[in-house]
Amino acid sequence: MAQFPFPKIRTKLPGPEAARIIRTDDQFVSPSYTRGYPCVADTGRGMILIDVDGNEFLDFCAGIAVCSTGHCHPEIVKAIQNQAAKLIHMSGTDFYYRVQSDLAKKLNALAPGLHKNRVFFTNSGAEAVEAAIKLARYKTKRSRLIAYIGAFHGRTLGALSLTGSKIIQRQGFAPLLQGVTHIPYPYCYRCQFGKKYGSCNLECFAHLEGILFQKTVPPSEVAAIFIEPIQGEGGYVVPPKEYLARLQQLAGRHGILIVADEVQSGMGRTGKMFACEHFDFEPDIICLAKGIASGLPLGAIIARKEIMDWPPGSHASTFGGNPVACAAALKTIELLEKGLLENAASMGKYLIGKLKLLQKKHPCIGDVRGRGLMAGIEIVKDRKTREPDPGLREKIVDMAFYKGLLILGCGPNSIRFSPALIVEKQHVDCCLSIIDGILTQLKK
Ligand code: PLP
Repeated sequence: MAQFPFPKIRTKLPGPEAARIIRTDDQFVSPSYTRGYPCVADTGRGMILIDVDGNEFLDFCAGIAVCSTGHCHPEIVKAIQNQAAKLIHMSGTDFYYRVQSDLAKKLNALAPGLHKNRVFFTNSGAEAVEAAIKLARYKTKRSRLIAYIGAFHGRTLGALSLTGSKIIQRQGFAPLLQGVTHIPYPYCYRCQFGKKYGSCNLECFAHLEGILFQKTVPPSEVAAIFIEPIQGEGGYVVPPKEYLARLQQLAGRHGILIVADEVQSGMGRTGKMFACEHFDFEPDIICLAKGIASGLPLGAIIARKEIMDWPPGSHASTFGGNPVACAAALKTIELLEKGLLENAASMGKYLIGKLKLLQKKHPCIGDVRGRGLMAGIEIVKDRKTREPDPGLREKIVDMAFYKGLLILGCGPNSIRFSPALIVEKQHVDCCLSIIDGILTQLKK
């Protein structure tokens, strides 16, 4: 990597201090976490993550798409410090404070649609989804829910009932919520109906309207359809625009609410504030978390006023909307509006363009897709048969770590690129030259 000033790997990995921490972790921390490679973080600066042995990694996962403004952006750190020196907690459930109402006002203005919304604050993505489930049931007085195969909505029991990503996430936790039906996501590269996009007449949509709603799922009992406008953990899958348009019409006809889970795709990651905007899609409820506060735990749901009309006491959270997290979110949004949103759009185009060039060179890259800085590649054994190659995916992600690049998988055989929105061309070039090197090495 001579032409780039990063990454800098100084020890064998894991280094001695990292190995010591991992031994303690192995002894005392829940074994349910899924650490793929032994990265022990110590310090973060922009696009660089420094481990406890002084190794410097180029970070293309940003804490699972969370550190939207980069690690420890000085303005975010300042906003957090100022707020922490003033008021750390009071609980927005029982008290008022300025940053919470300011953030709600700002999110109302940003949300697609009429800007007559209300906001409920949570601590995480799963909690935002829980709030959306409760609100949809409360408002419609209906109980059924529809979600997608491949969806990830979180791991609390309500959110988990909607998650359809990996069996290990659900196995052993039954009974989950009743009345949840999972339907195929419009995943054109692997159409569940064996069709080809362009001549498929959206068979996946017809399955919902023409089969499920006619035979097994009375639409009048459905409270909400939960959809990720770009499926995240499922493999960074982008649906056709007309699918979302038709879904919106269908839901409208039956009085079903549409919940867009933008926990991963929201807050500028795709080059627009919300991924919904790429599709002119106007959901009834939007779920947010991850990148909203640059790394502090915060989530939110935004819904039109007439939908979020539940009475005092019906839902609340001690920590949700914590003042320090709200201050970080307000500063995050300011930075997004001052240029990071634009950067995400242009760097996303650059990244996806370069991934497409890489695809030409390496036949194991079956598909390149995404919007903005939510970009993914699908690793296959054979480009014609599209047979997935999860083993090779694991190998690439692992080798990248040892070469100083942090990336994560998604779906059974995809790799995601979700860098901070401050990413520059030199970072993209370095990242892709490492991937190129790995794929070339693996061919030999
Ligand atoms: N929804 C989506 C789309 C997600 O990607 C995630 C997390 O990856 C969640 C919900 C759950 O968020 P959290 O881990 O903050 O509970």
